[in-house]
Amino acid sequence: MSTEINVDPQEISKFDAVASRWWDPEGDCKPLHQLNPVRLRFIEQHVSLTNKRALDIGCGGGILSEALASQGANVTGIDMASAPLSVAKLHLLESKLNVDYQQITAEEFAQLHSHQFDVITCMELLEHVPDPALLVQACALALKPKGDLFFSTLNRNAKSFIESIIGAEYVLRMLPKGTHRYDRFIKPSELARWCRNANIEVKNLKGMSYNPLTQQFKLNDDLRVNYLVHAQLLS
Ligand code: SAH
Repeated sequence: MSTEINVDPQEISKFDAVASRWWDPEGDCKPLHQLNPVRLRFIEQHVSLTNKRALDIGCGGGILSEALASQGANVTGIDMASAPLSVAKLHLLESKLNVDYQQITAEEFAQLHSHQFDVITCMELLEHVPDPALLVQACALALKPKGDLFFSTLNRNAKSFIESIIGAEYVLRMLPKGTHRYDRFIKPSELARWCRNANIEVKNLKGMSYNPLTQQFKLNDDLRVNYLVHAQLLS
């Protein structure tokens, strides 16, 4: 595996800037709060979290990490932005949950903890890193054989540009302007190729569509904008 650091400092500073509002359900991270029940349901359709060792890569302020812990997983959350990690640690005092938060790259963490995790989640992160294929390799290294891996990201096409950048950042103002870069969006076929190259098998794909009237996401089979992936390390 390459030793180059797979982190874009501009991306990290965007997330540092919104850290104090991370747990405000109406704040800059509102979409993460809205996505959380849907993605947790998707994860639990495929694995039982009770007593599993789970790694949440790019955990930010810990919205998903806490949800995994609340379902009985033993969770480690890693991120490269220090402010969201501080918020995540503080929030544990309120939630009374237990999560081990660390500031470390996925690549370095995987070298130190190879093949130790039953479940890895890597949500809304791939589209923010310079080399997502390298991150997929790090997931493969940290997973136990047959371990379960969950991604969510944004597809790259005209509909996703209109909905997730024009719609979410400029019209509905669900996210700060500049949160996403269209050229970093990822087609399911690209993610599937990176998985194959890392000995990971894609098992299931689902779309998540947003209804601005109900302000809710729901699972469906339309992969054109937000989508979730369940995959497994082969051996
Ligand atoms: N996964 C969380 C947060 C998504 S926001 C959730 O879905 O609720 C994206 C997160 O990825 C931010 O916290 C940001 O700091 C982090 N991030 C961006 N680039 C990263 C990298 N190269 N390595 C680790 N974390 C990164």
